[in-house]
Amino acid sequence: MRRAGPAGRPPDKRGLAIMAAFNFTNSYLRDVYETVCRKDPDQPEFLQAAGEVLESLQPVMDQRPDLVRSGVVERIVEPERTLLFRISWVDDHGKVQVNRGYRVQFSTAIGPSKGGLRFHPSVNLSIVKFLGFEQIFKNSLTGLPLGGGKGGSDFDPKGKSGNEVMRFCQSFMTELQRHIGPDTDVPAGDIGVGAREIGYLFGQYKRIRNEFNGVLTGKGLSYGGSLARTEATGYGLCYFANEMLKAAGKSFQGQSVVISGSGNVAIYANQKATQLGGKVIAMSDSNGYIVDENGIDYKIIQEIKEVKRERIKTYLEYVPGAKYVEGCSGIWTVPCGIALPCATQNELPLEGAKALVEHGCFAVAEGANMPSTPEAVAWFQSHGVLFAPAKASNAGGVATSGLEMTQNSMRLSWSFDEVDQRLHGIMTNIYHNAAKAAAEFGMEGNLVAGANIAGFLKVADAMIWQGVSY
Ligand code: NDP
Repeated sequence: MRRAGPAGRPPDKRGLAIMAAFNFTNSYLRDVYETVCRKDPDQPEFLQAAGEVLESLQPVMDQRPDLVRSGVVERIVEPERTLLFRISWVDDHGKVQVNRGYRVQFSTAIGPSKGGLRFHPSVNLSIVKFLGFEQIFKNSLTGLPLGGGKGGSDFDPKGKSGNEVMRFCQSFMTELQRHIGPDTDVPAGDIGVGAREIGYLFGQYKRIRNEFNGVLTGKGLSYGGSLARTEATGYGLCYFANEMLKAAGKSFQGQSVVISGSGNVAIYANQKATQLGGKVIAMSDSNGYIVDENGIDYKIIQEIKEVKRERIKTYLEYVPGAKYVEGCSGIWTVPCGIALPCATQNELPLEGAKALVEHGCFAVAEGANMPSTPEAVAWFQSHGVLFAPAKASNAGGVATSGLEMTQNSMRLSWSFDEVDQRLHGIMTNIYHNAAKAAAEFGMEGNLVAGANIAGFLKVADAMIWQGVSY
């Protein structure tokens, strides 16, 4: 097999260290991955996401030599377009502040690129590329015509006044608006970008472009948003987990559930897990975690985080009998049957996986993007834990964004139940498609491989049909 890159030039130490986490037996995929590691050694999160997908495509390559010839894998690891821009804005003291903005339009093979915006000080090109890359396969799994993209800024909304957040969003959109559109690229929310930010972003887009359309999803209900979009990622996660549990003869009923994070995904995962008969006994934020053996009421977390924008520690003022522990990583030592990591990438390392397994956890479903490290995933899989990977289990958010786009195009609104039922159907399909693909390629029960393969094949075929113009 030919080598993908210039022969004999290995990645540097950083790239090699990341490569070591993956086991490539297919020389073509190893060469492609080696080239990626050599080109982008300073993008560890992107390399991790790419390594995980490429590793699981190995059985596919043996059956589909046309994929090698058409260079689909080399193409798919390179974004179609990467935008990097300055955002200047004026703070409440009249001082000019400068942040960096990103939008990566990774793939438009099966639809306009689609993926959220993240506002967090940790945002850099590596994080945006990892998220955009994952989004390609996730969006494909939904069965909707959505390409993959992601964006954001290193702006930190925490501690900023409402007016500062508005001015920042307006400046951000002043640049972004020239690159997006309802048929080109449709951003949404992510960490640090909720209903408030989407409103300011949409207002500025409309003002500059003089167009009222579905350019953003996660909009408010009074101006084109969809019912159930707010709840969708958390609900979808539990619908997916429920299918996975059902196939193994298990359920949420009577199980203790640990959920990391206390943002959009975590809050509605709590609500749905509780409705399905589970008891959510621990939740966290980036400072620490709470434990309440009587079950955490999602409405209290909603008030603390969404209304008051306070720390999760405040929960003790509502429920004095609960416990608060400083530091968020210890949450995985809380004994539970089901764990739902819903905070951020790499928040569940090997030690966390070991603690969960030791204390009887039998199912993990990812709500956040790539919350488990590759070592943690391997630990779960080798210890018989049912494992739902993010790109399948958290696809409910983008799926409902797709439904919001459909409603915007048709200029009508569906009821909450109608959207929720469609979401339920989509998540059930994603589970069965991932399980089927895993079985077809000889990896029964491995939903990581199944989701990657099912998501990839649809995009790959579309790319082949469309030729090699991009
Ligand atoms: P939010 O900003 O609403 O919430 C993020 C939450 O995670 C906050 O409670 C934050 O705490 C907490 N957090 C951050 N880092 C840590 C950490 N290391 N340990 C514990 N808690 C932490 O974001 P979302 O809920 O929207 O997103 C969460 C994850 O889900 C992200 O990975 C996102 O990409 C993914 N996702 C989101 C979708 C959506 O529809 N919103 C769709 C699909 C995926 P603090 O308040 O201290 O910052």
